[in-house]
Amino acid sequence: MRTGGSKGKGLCYLGPPAPSPRCYLPTHAFGPLLLAHPRLRPARAPTYAAVMSNDPGWRREIEDKVHGGHRLSREDGEALYACDDLAWLGGLAHHKRTELNGDRVMFNVNRHLNLTNVCSASCAYCSFQRKPGEKSAYTMRVEEAVAKAKEMEDEQLTELHIVNGLHPTLPWKYYPRVLRALSEALPGVSLKCFTATEIHWFERISGLSADEVLDELIDAGLSSLTGGGAEIFDWEIRQHIVDHATHWEDWSRIHRLAHSKGLRTPATMLYGHIEEPRHRVDHVLRLRELQDETGGFVVFIPLRYQHDFVDSADGIIRNRLQERTTMASPAESLKTFAVSRLLFDNVPHVKCFWVMHGVSLAQLSLNFGVDDLDGSVVEYKITHDADSYGTPNTMHREDLLTLIRDAGFQPVERNTRYEIVREYDAPPTLAQRRAEPQDVWA
Ligand code: SF4
Repeated sequence: MRTGGSKGKGLCYLGPPAPSPRCYLPTHAFGPLLLAHPRLRPARAPTYAAVMSNDPGWRREIEDKVHGGHRLSREDGEALYACDDLAWLGGLAHHKRTELNGDRVMFNVNRHLNLTNVCSASCAYCSFQRKPGEKSAYTMRVEEAVAKAKEMEDEQLTELHIVNGLHPTLPWKYYPRVLRALSEALPGVSLKCFTATEIHWFERISGLSADEVLDELIDAGLSSLTGGGAEIFDWEIRQHIVDHATHWEDWSRIHRLAHSKGLRTPATMLYGHIEEPRHRVDHVLRLRELQDETGGFVVFIPLRYQHDFVDSADGIIRNRLQERTTMASPAESLKTFAVSRLLFDNVPHVKCFWVMHGVSLAQLSLNFGVDDLDGSVVEYKITHDADSYGTPNTMHREDLLTLIRDAGFQPVERNTRYEIVREYDAPPTLAQRRAEPQDVWA
């Protein structure tokens, strides 16, 4: 697996929120700031968490907590990240996921649509953004969006997942208009649309409150928000990677409001860039606390930060983090799934978005706390502008069924609200499966 970044481009990879939309500053521009960054500091003495994670007494204590249904603390979470015994971590997380979800693995048949890649912000990790006038910038007309969605009708699509750039000049009314047109064209399809960042942006361009924005979108057909825009909430990290105005206060305000209107929403975390495990723990605990209050999060989705190898149509590397970062290894990803599952005692599902992890790791993740795989994706631009691992960008129902059954789980198709659409047969025994030719996956 390639983990190195493209060298010698002279682009800034890190720094405070970019001062302008076209921030391709020389690497030296933020030099002093970079040295202060946690991922670049010299190795430190072992932390309390690192010491505790190898202590047999501590392990028994964690096992007792998990098996007894007791909530894990911040210190527990940090110590779990410091533990390199993946099999032990996986076993604990698997216990928790089995307790909550049995041997089921959920999926849905959905399609991702990005109405526009034009964005006013320049988040440091983002390969998707384009500025007005760039050759590869696009914005779909309402009819185009509907035509794209209609292409999937024969796939028994149940959900459209729509996220977009923060377009500087598109009028607010465009968004409810698209939703209304999609609702009319595909009446049985749930519309899971917009990050909290976009809702915050709509407040700004419409002059309406989030309350009014959500009401109008719900009236136009909105079923759920998406979980994006969360990245890492801790400001120590966030200030270096996020270039829009939506941080924890507004992100949580908007999801709280959505939950109060009856929407159930996902929550995400972008990991594997410049954050430390303690920032991931902090991120999860903020969400856990909010979930105690609203009960509206239905799934947690750890998203692996991606390097940008194929954003090459115009030769511009937009991901400014990648020159000095690596991507999280598969082991780190499995650990992140497992620890998240263990910390989240109040969110029912943990999802692996296989487009960001590869199919093999997605299958393995089912034994590390994951019980939900993102479904059939015919086109997904945000990730696939930043992927060269040969991960397919299309997976259909039959592919998912095979993947899930081959790992020994029962596939269950769900809708956006995690209600069961269809239960499939449990997998055949291992002995039966070994007698058949095996699929080969990336
Ligand atoms: S992550 Fe979203 S808000 Fe940030 S630059 Fe990319 S498209 Fe824009």
